[in-house]
Amino acid sequence: MTATSPVDADRRFVFHPFSNAYRHEREGATAMVVRGRGTRLEDADGRQYLDAMAGLWCVNVGYGREEIADALHRQALELSYFHGFSSMATAPPALLAEQIIARAGGSMTKVFYGNSGSDANDTQLKIVASYNNRRGRPEKKKVISRDRGYHGVTIASASLTGLPAMHAEFDLPLPQIRHVSAPYRLWNAEPGEDDRAFSARLADELDAMIRAEGPETVAAFIAEPVQGAGGVIVPPEGYFEAIQRVLREHDVLLIADEVISGFGRLGHWFGSHRFGLEPDLITIAKGVTSAYVPLSGTIVSERVWKVLADGPEGVFQHGYTYSAHPLGAAAALANLRLVEEEGLIERAERQGETLRALLRDAFADHPLVGEVRGAGLMAAVEFVAERDPAVRFDPALQVAPRIVRASLDRGIITRALPAADTISFSPPFVVTDDELADMVAGTRAALDQVAGELTRERA
Ligand code: PMP
Repeated sequence: MTATSPVDADRRFVFHPFSNAYRHEREGATAMVVRGRGTRLEDADGRQYLDAMAGLWCVNVGYGREEIADALHRQALELSYFHGFSSMATAPPALLAEQIIARAGGSMTKVFYGNSGSDANDTQLKIVASYNNRRGRPEKKKVISRDRGYHGVTIASASLTGLPAMHAEFDLPLPQIRHVSAPYRLWNAEPGEDDRAFSARLADELDAMIRAEGPETVAAFIAEPVQGAGGVIVPPEGYFEAIQRVLREHDVLLIADEVISGFGRLGHWFGSHRFGLEPDLITIAKGVTSAYVPLSGTIVSERVWKVLADGPEGVFQHGYTYSAHPLGAAAALANLRLVEEEGLIERAERQGETLRALLRDAFADHPLVGEVRGAGLMAAVEFVAERDPAVRFDPALQVAPRIVRASLDRGIITRALPAADTISFSPPFVVTDDELADMVAGTRAALDQVAGELTRERA
């Protein structure tokens, strides 16, 4: 067999996630990334990049951390794998669960491990089903999510995801899933409506949906503290307070999807702590290992656990070969040690403030910018054809993807978020002030380039 180059092998043999299959097979990879240190990446042609997205909102402690590599090396030699089925155990996931529970606080008591945010949200739906079956309420199974929520891509978690493009191709959502409006001020608030009034209206919408469905059929509500891939949508004041009042009234569980926000990105160990959520279940992934290896989890509160463990009969009939993988847990333990010892959660908050200030200076007054928003070390800029009142660009113009591409040409990696002309920023917590300034300057130059192209196209 002849050896081909990695770039050629990728073009010919890899079926890429969230990529255009036709174009990839003809044009190949946009970049083949070969090396990373801190916030910086290098590709196979020697080009340098600043990664303003920490991969996919996940490489929180930055690339190339020896402490995590060493922990993986040691654990692979000591015990590369053993499973957790039938009450077998290994040490790293046990020690990690103790740390996760200590940091989650509230009434959280157990961690069920998985491999990805998507499979962890599937686990959530199984836990919710089992919980209500055991309580003798088999009809209480519907789960309400939000438009623009991103909860994953498996059949169940893609159903929770509130992005129509991710449903149409696969005949989703599943019949027991519903969606309510996102707390998306720019497009969903009425003119003159303040945060509290907007929040109250969204809570009323949820209340009306639960009543219309029948509260005895609605099991859970799932929400990210800040909606990430759906547009970096920060909840308005009073939102989760009002939502949780409705959930409590109707005995509906709250699942906090903290796949992005868990482990520091919002300046707290959990985003729930920042926005006053008191979840019954929490989904984690990404930042728990800073994506050095895959690991996810569902954190279960005492209220739910008591029902799942209420008697000696039966076995929880769910688990992955790689649930509680000792390598994932070893990486997570080393990662959490770095987050703590280097004060990275406080740093994420500080660098987030710097980033948002830079973005506001560079973008807020631009005629094509509808909003600069964010919280912690997550931020976004949304582009509009007209500002007041805001009018969307024709989606065919592909404004955000073009700006992301023009940024990439300047060595800055951002992301265009689906169904909104929005680009996002979510750099590693170790990002420096100079790197933030370079990211924002490069993105602003990219906007100027695309704005010029749009003017010429319209002429
Ligand atoms: N939930 C949230 C909030 C996410 O942001 C993501 C991934 N971006 C997921 C779930 C799905 O995680 P994964 O891609 O690991 O399946």
